[in-house]
Amino acid sequence: MDQTIPVPVLKAVETCDALVVGGGPAGSTCAWKLRQRGMAVTVLDKAPFPRDKVCAGWITPAVVQALQLDTEAYAKEHVLQPITAFRTGLIHGGEVETRYQGTVSYGIRRCEFDDYLLRRSGARMQLGQTLKSLEKRGRLWLVNDAITTPLIIGAGGHFCPVARFLGAQLGATEAAVTAKEIEFEMNPEQRADCRVRADTPELYFCRDLKGYGWCFRKGDYLNIGLGREGNQGLSEQLGDFCDFLAQRGRIPKNIPSKFHGHAYLQYGHSRRTLLDDGVLLVGDAAGLAYPESGEGIRPAVESGLMAAATVAEAGEDYGSQRLQAYASRLSARFGPRAAPDGVMVPGFVRSILAGALLGSRWFTRRVVLDRWFLHAHQPGL
Ligand SMILES: Cc1cc2nc3c(=O)[nH]c(=O)nc-3n(C[C@H](O)[C@H](O)[C@H](O)COP(=O)(O)OP(=O)(O)OC[C@H]3O[C@@H](n4cnc5c(N)ncnc54)[C@H](O)[C@@H]3O)c2cc1C
Repeated sequence: MDQTIPVPVLKAVETCDALVVGGGPAGSTCAWKLRQRGMAVTVLDKAPFPRDKVCAGWITPAVVQALQLDTEAYAKEHVLQPITAFRTGLIHGGEVETRYQGTVSYGIRRCEFDDYLLRRSGARMQLGQTLKSLEKRGRLWLVNDAITTPLIIGAGGHFCPVARFLGAQLGATEAAVTAKEIEFEMNPEQRADCRVRADTPELYFCRDLKGYGWCFRKGDYLNIGLGREGNQGLSEQLGDFCDFLAQRGRIPKNIPSKFHGHAYLQYGHSRRTLLDDGVLLVGDAAGLAYPESGEGIRPAVESGLMAAATVAEAGEDYGSQRLQAYASRLSARFGPRAAPDGVMVPGFVRSILAGALLGSRWFTRRVVLDRWFLHAHQPGL
């Protein structure tokens, strides 16, 4: 008779001080700061890096400042396109060009930028690994039956599994912005045909002001996309936008046809639970993108910094009461979370107003660009 007793296979369990789920700008920034404070941090991401992220790849100077990015060193090995002007208008309408004295923003490629930040963070990386399970065992979390930690940072973007764990009903009750884009390297013929200047991104608003399209050249790369509130008619609007760009001779012929889509929540429109005992959400997982422009990298980076500062102050007590300081920091920085009650403006009035306002050089520079897109009034963290 066979007397062999089955030996249970013991899985090695790794321990860390904080597990960051998602290695985008929010997660890598938080990991970077926690590492600087001496914590053992692991970043888990379902994608192997470098990975791309659906994005126009525009960053404002506040991002450069918050990340302490050495632009000269970065530009030696990566695309870093200085922006000194904008061309704006309505789709199928007139255009205004606004020039600045110096660099007011930069264009980056997300496949490079995110990889650079993640590697710079000094965190241990578990890439190409999806978050599959999350269990609370007393004071500790057990993640994927393989990692224990007292603290989880949910940085998995709009569809973050940690946000789901905290009750986010993705798609069901959330009014998200949906967007599609392509980014491709132009061949010599396309480069010669492209009339978009690299230092002058182009932004064209939908007539109902519920979204806008962009055309953004970064060196030899061209990024074209359109984002709108809700997902109704996105593909049609995008098709119409590309036809408009082609008719105006802005973009080359034969651009790739496969656009990639993604979504995000605008700050003030998100009701996601931000924290609980031993867990915080940062970046898109928390729904922080600026409502007027959709800029999400700056709030992602800043929330990563604010989360790390809160964790440092908590002194290893990660109870929700201690972590509440993070929610207070977000409100102090970005304002109250409740969306202001909008005045209902009929569609045709919006359309007339849009045409008049976007034709105004003063309004375009002072309000649309300086305030909505560059957030020049809000100094960096
Ligand atoms: C079309 C489009 C254009 C945009 N253009 C701009 C722009 O020009 N400038 C700007 O500032 N913002 C822009 N945004 C917004 C910006 O892309 C986001 O706000 C920003 O990427 C948020 O960063 P994040 O780190 O929170 O999340 P993300 O960058 O989305 O990173 C999340 C990470 O989590 C990982 N992840 C997801 N699920 C799991 C899982 N289950 N397990 C493990 N890992 C997981 C993902 O692989 C990813 O690496 C744009 C958005 C869209 C859709």
